[in-house]
Amino acid sequence: MKEIVIISGKGGTGKTTITAALASLVKNNVIADCDVDAADLHLILNPDIRQQEDFFSGKTAFIRQGDCTQCGKCVEVCHFDAISPDFVVDPVSCEGCGVCVAFCPAYAIDFNQNLCGQWFISKTRFGSLVHAKLGIAEENSGKLVSLVRKQAKQMAKKENAEYIIVDGAPGVGCPVISSITGASAVIVVTEPTLSGLHDMKRVVSLAGDFFQLSTFLCVNKADLNPDITEKMMEFCDTNGVHFAGRVPYDESTTRAMVEGKNIFEFKPGPAAAAIREIWAEVEDTLRGNKN
Ligand code: SF4
Ligand code: SF4
Repeated sequence: MKEIVIISGKGGTGKTTITAALASLVKNNVIADCDVDAADLHLILNPDIRQQEDFFSGKTAFIRQGDCTQCGKCVEVCHFDAISPDFVVDPVSCEGCGVCVAFCPAYAIDFNQNLCGQWFISKTRFGSLVHAKLGIAEENSGKLVSLVRKQAKQMAKKENAEYIIVDGAPGVGCPVISSITGASAVIVVTEPTLSGLHDMKRVVSLAGDFFQLSTFLCVNKADLNPDITEKMMEFCDTNGVHFAGRVPYDESTTRAMVEGKNIFEFKPGPAAAAIREIWAEVEDTLRGNKN
């Protein structure tokens, strides 16, 4: 079973469009949406949710006023100034260290896990999907990403799937690290702009140099700036990155999204043809038919 993660240097490069296209193109797969901060793969895949679970992460102190003797010990030991002089915990400032709980002589402090979001297992027209929703302003998306990937792997084993297609988190922070660690290969989706070039180099360096993952580059809307596309290809050449291909600007891509379809279901045009070739390139390389 191979896990292919589609990532980008920043949001809005067409990563999810390409993931949705691959999800329909690659047969015998399980799909995972690890872009939990801005999950939108479900808008195209229209999942039928079969299982829903709460996601808990971290703990927050809560003082039961009826049991508190107002000794002041908790205020004294809290390094985060999270407890007010009248012994109320500010949940935003509380870092969940548990020190106040350990020192409270009256055992008056509850220390419960935080409900941070939900994760789901769904059926879609392209296969099983594991996805999640992080609560508003919640952190710990890295943990939720790891959970989604773990569930997707279990599902893939159960279904004897050949591939897991993962919509990874964008950027170079904790969520993307959780998205790619231990993956079989990474496809970086970028657009041919100067900032795209800069972001692409950072994320390629993270995936290829730091994590030593087989890394492919795909330039979306490549024909809008052939010069920068050329620079990106040169960068791949000199840095041992597989150049997977160019996807041309194709207005049917946007129209397909508006209708909740992927580009193969809409009116397959030049972008669909290019993505088909990109997948052939990735699959050939992963099977060892190409260097
Ligand atoms: S340490 Fe316990 S008893 Fe003392 S003020 Fe804090 S919550 Fe109240
Ligand atoms: S758990 Fe830690 S951070 Fe939160 S109120 Fe208690 S001592 Fe402060």
